[in-house]
Amino acid sequence: MCECSKIHLYEVEFKLDGMVVVPTHKNCGFALDEKQSDKFQKELVKSWGFEDEEE
Ligand SMILES: [Zn+2]
Repeated sequence: MCECSKIHLYEVEFKLDGMVVVPTHKNCGFALDEKQSDKFQKELVKSWGFEDEEE
């Protein structure tokens, strides 16, 4: 499990594990914990522009 304190969205790789997307930290190669996964999935959706305005 990734224990890095600072992770940026661009360092996160969304790997597909069966039917489940597993956000993985590229820098250390470990999967993010549940709380971080949730956060980054939301950020990913935001980055696609489905949620609120961009800068
Ligand atoms: Zn990490």
